[in-house]
Amino acid sequence: MEKIPNSLEGPYICRQEPILRKDGSFAIEEITESPRSGSHVRDIIWRSSDDKEVSFNKFLPGQKYRFVKMPPGPYEYAALFKDKVITYGDLALPMALLSLLHEIGHAHIYETAQEKKYQLASSAYEEYINDLNNRQLTEEDIKKRGENPKDYVYVTEFDPKGKEGKEFVEEPDNQFFQMLVPRKLAEDFGQTHAQNERDAWAYALKTLRKLKQEGLDLEPGLKLEDFLNKIYSYLETYEKYHKRRGVKEKYFTKNKKFKRIELI
Ligand SMILES: [Zn+2]
Repeated sequence: MEKIPNSLEGPYICRQEPILRKDGSFAIEEITESPRSGSHVRDIIWRSSDDKEVSFNKFLPGQKYRFVKMPPGPYEYAALFKDKVITYGDLALPMALLSLLHEIGHAHIYETAQEKKYQLASSAYEEYINDLNNRQLTEEDIKKRGENPKDYVYVTEFDPKGKEGKEFVEEPDNQFFQMLVPRKLAEDFGQTHAQNERDAWAYALKTLRKLKQEGLDLEPGLKLEDFLNKIYSYLETYEKYHKRRGVKEKYFTKNKKFKRIELI
């Protein structure tokens, strides 16, 4: 194991916790503990049954990022940019390493103009729907302002005060309401969000393919078709979420360009 440089924060304890995967490989959490900063996952290492290794740390866009394990639930995998944290779930499960690469892909996108576009579009949309005056707007009001109601769409939104953080989960007690939103705001939000998700999956698939070409097969039990089916089912979840925002274009799933990525 690589030696950790001396620091004022020491002494460190470093340990490896191997998680056995179904295919006989291991996903190893490398955990450091120090009196000041506590325990954290310093690296996630994949080790094949014939002892080849891949460190996931090297894929991170900067050393400031760290990994945090989450309990089972709908929000296991995420890239939290402010905290520079990549969260993950049970690494023994199929697709887990691809999901981890997907979140790392998000961290890379975060440094780009693409993310800026998405952030601008999503905050413009959020700002609009959270303005209570906009929620009262009728087609008559739009006409009176000299605008065309056709440039607006009815969106179904939920009250963020009711169920914060549950926006992707269609729960029966969510407080839904309808309102008119400029079509362009909803479209830009859906389109930039789709681009972000697809780019993060493309990063994950490309990395997987590159490793495979080097003789490192992270998911030997899964075929390209399995990956694509799973990825498209994730993308469809987002698509559903934007559909109730009047986004008719299938930005998330229409373009099947992932099919051209061959994992041979
Ligand atoms: Zn994502």
